[in-house]
Amino acid sequence: MKEQVFVNSTVLITGGAGFIGSNLCEYFLSKGYKVVCLDNFATGHKHNLKAFEENVNFRLIEGDIRNEKDCQKAVQGVDYVLHQAALGSVPRSIQDPVTTNDVNVSGFINMLVASRDAKVKRFIYAASSSTYGDSQGLPKVEDVIGKPLSPYAITKYVNELYAEIFSSTYGMETIGLRYFNVFGRKQDPNGAYAAVIPKFVMQLMQLESPVINGDGNYSRDFTYIDNVIQMNELAMVTDNPLAINTVFNTAYGDRNTLNDLVNYLKEYLSKYDSRIANVAIEYGPSRAGDIPHSLASIDKAKALLGYNPQFSLQKGLQEAVAWYWDNLR
Ligand code: NAD
Repeated sequence: MKEQVFVNSTVLITGGAGFIGSNLCEYFLSKGYKVVCLDNFATGHKHNLKAFEENVNFRLIEGDIRNEKDCQKAVQGVDYVLHQAALGSVPRSIQDPVTTNDVNVSGFINMLVASRDAKVKRFIYAASSSTYGDSQGLPKVEDVIGKPLSPYAITKYVNELYAEIFSSTYGMETIGLRYFNVFGRKQDPNGAYAAVIPKFVMQLMQLESPVINGDGNYSRDFTYIDNVIQMNELAMVTDNPLAINTVFNTAYGDRNTLNDLVNYLKEYLSKYDSRIANVAIEYGPSRAGDIPHSLASIDKAKALLGYNPQFSLQKGLQEAVAWYWDNLR
């Protein structure tokens, strides 16, 4: 019965042409929802929409979250918003803090205001583990954060503050999902600000040495896309009042070093091309704004949402590598 109520719903996925957004579009369409995608293709791609662009339940609005009218148009008739549109990447925000702020903060408020005015049922948004900033403690628990270490981290923290105020002031339902190093199919391997996993996969497939920033002992809670999809769905369907108007770590709850990561990639990719096993790893200087270690506590999501992530780094990497081998070689 509950399922029936939800599949008649319309979900707006901003940034739906990007890595996480296009996977969310595909998933919710496969469950029978109507999906609207708002994207300006700043970093997203038409090819990410190809598998479902003809689906009658799918509608693309090419527009910009910095434009209020585009936001108002996108929320018409929408029940739930999964707000993913943003300019990601810490180095990009150090290079161009003004544009990052325009998109990630002004665009975010535009979407909140449009969603409030259209009386959407719930506004779920992509927050970030970068909000933990310089806090040293591990694992990271939601209510203990440090000082932001980059313009990007500031924008993502400001998102949380605005969501909280829109909840308390206007009675909106919001849920923030602090994503930790997400990876998987459709993540863009190209460009100056590419994420580490797709970049290393492409380099190894071309028998080029991946360059690790630092000594490779930094560690991260690498999170496979299907765990992130599960969190978005749980945030959408939950009727637990304690889970609403709050934030959740969205992670697997384990950490691996960069050295571990490259070794897994070499192992899995060498099943497709044995020469990859012999590609050397190179090391470069550490990057500004990087924290040494990151690991999420996922206890809150388990307790309040019933989150039960199915993909470890190893399991997710094997799926991701197979996808890159089939699609991008
Ligand atoms: P992505 O770059 O693949 O997707 C972002 C999408 O937003 C793109 O399709 C882009 O074209 C769109 N977009 C950018 N500016 C826009 C604008 N002004 N108007 C409309 N659309 C716009 O990145 P992603 O990895 O899929 O990230 C999705 C969200 O998750 C972002 O909010 C990001 O900050 C957050 N996040 C991602 C990670 C990660 O590890 N990938 C970690 C923490 C948080």
